[in-house]
Amino acid sequence: MRHVITLGIALAMTTTQSLGTTADAQSPADYPIHSMTRPQPPVVDPGAYPGMQLAPSDAVVLFDGHSLSGWQSADSAGHPARWKVADGYMEVVARTGNIATTRGFGDVQLHIEWMAPVPAKGEGQERGNSGVFLMGIYEIQVLDSYQNPTYADGAAAAIYGQYPPLVNPSRPPGQWQTYDIVFHRPRFDATGNVTRPARMTILFNGILVQDDVALTGPTAHKARPPYAKHADRLPLILQDHGDPVRYRNIWVRELPNG
Ligand code: MG
Repeated sequence: MRHVITLGIALAMTTTQSLGTTADAQSPADYPIHSMTRPQPPVVDPGAYPGMQLAPSDAVVLFDGHSLSGWQSADSAGHPARWKVADGYMEVVARTGNIATTRGFGDVQLHIEWMAPVPAKGEGQERGNSGVFLMGIYEIQVLDSYQNPTYADGAAAAIYGQYPPLVNPSRPPGQWQTYDIVFHRPRFDATGNVTRPARMTILFNGILVQDDVALTGPTAHKARPPYAKHADRLPLILQDHGDPVRYRNIWVRELPNG
């Protein structure tokens, strides 16, 4: 019986603590953007890369390892994406610009694999930086966050400037890593007011790092701008931040009412 009583007290304490007034590392309102005092996500070893999860039958394959035919320059529509393609991956070519899918998407499940360059170069935001922009507006940070601290809301799998990942399950540079993302676009009324914010859930290397969080608006550097009404479907964008980050096995499932 003694053990049962002890467990009861422990549970009560846990409940009290979770209702306490300490700042919630996951709540954007509790921290200024890019705060260096925001707690670092605890490191978790995700284990070895488990093997490539191929697209299911109802997915749209956005990159099959051979062709950038579904992509174009994000800055000048109609112009080709100029990133490198080799051995089943695409790689950022510095200063060629962001790339965008030729198709638009709304609510989706997205699978994307990426690899930070070796040898690791630079510190913080200057190491293996890229990004996955849902609808070209809402960035999930891509960064070599293996033994590379930076502001928590700019770590790998952060919703940039808003939500640090719950944990840091980064693999070392030179190894493939996965994001599995569930995204619900924001809803607007006819006059442009937000009736439902965008929501995101992310698994990073199979580990839950964003748990159905509500975005404050578009992601930005040193800013949290308000929502601005936009189309129901917009292209997915990958970021050229100057580092030769690689991507492969990119596929998307369009969700009902997307
Ligand atoms: Mg980035």
